Amino acid sequence: MNLILLGPPGAGKGTQAKFLVDKYKIPQISTGDILRHAVKERSELGLRAQAFMDAGALVPDDLVVSIIRDRLTWPDASAGFILDGFPRTVAQADALAVMLTASGKDIDHVLSIVVAEDELVERVVGRLTCKGCGRGYHRKFDPPKNDAVCDACSAELYQREDDREETMRSRLQAYAAQTAPLVEYYAAKGLLRTVNGIGSIQNIQASIVSVLEG
Ligand code: ADP
Ligand code: ADP
Ligand code: ZN
Repeated sequence: MNLILLGPPGAGKGTQAKFLVDKYKIPQISTGDILRHAVKERSELGLRAQAFMDAGALVPDDLVVSIIRDRLTWPDASAGFILDGFPRTVAQADALAVMLTASGKDIDHVLSIVVAEDELVERVVGRLTCKGCGRGYHRKFDPPKNDAVCDACSAELYQREDDREETMRSRLQAYAAQTAPLVEYYAAKGLLRTVNGIGSIQNIQASIVSVLEG
């Protein structure tokens, strides 16, 4: 099963992706996680991406498209994948379509997770992220079992540099201007499945499963 998770920052893409990885045994491919790793390693990719990320702007298409082009060739992606945070522009979506056609693959579903803006801000400013596995928590809505370490891998949790209210405003603007057009784009291809992203994490998991298996 080849999936795309579409939604604004804070919609719950990463949270639901972790659930889908366990349930369907297919990898989560998060361009955000790959870019944050590159920034930490100070690789050439990281050095080129960092200023855009810190400003809450999108990283140029050619950089993220080449990340995905490489990642989709890994053996673990042959039985399916969950794209989390990619594509984010029409140009990225077009590039993805060309890549998939060339390798005889298709997207099965685009899950569009819908959450109102006030709630998105509250979620993102309270988010804690694992330094090891990238899993997200929330200080109030989804706290870790033990203060400040990840339930899954025991690595330290931190607050992302861009998870501040001011930067979040820029990210929401980037979403509205550059990513929201993908809703229509995938609806026109008959791939869009809209999911209400408000409610408990478990209820949203259940509605995703019913969309995928219904
Ligand atoms: P969130 O999960 O909150 O939506 P991400 O971790 O997906 O955030 O992305 C963090 C940042 O990484 C984005 O604000 C952007 O700068 C960069 N980024 C991630 N994916 C992409 C992409 N597909 N295209 C351009 N920039 C991206
Ligand atoms: P995204 O990857 O779309 O940016 P995340 O999955 O990281 O979003 O979720 C953003 C924040 O909201 C995290 O702190 C997460 O713990 C929290 N969160 C996720 N789903 C829900 C939910 N259904 N209700 C409340 N908080 C949630
Ligand atoms: Zn972890």
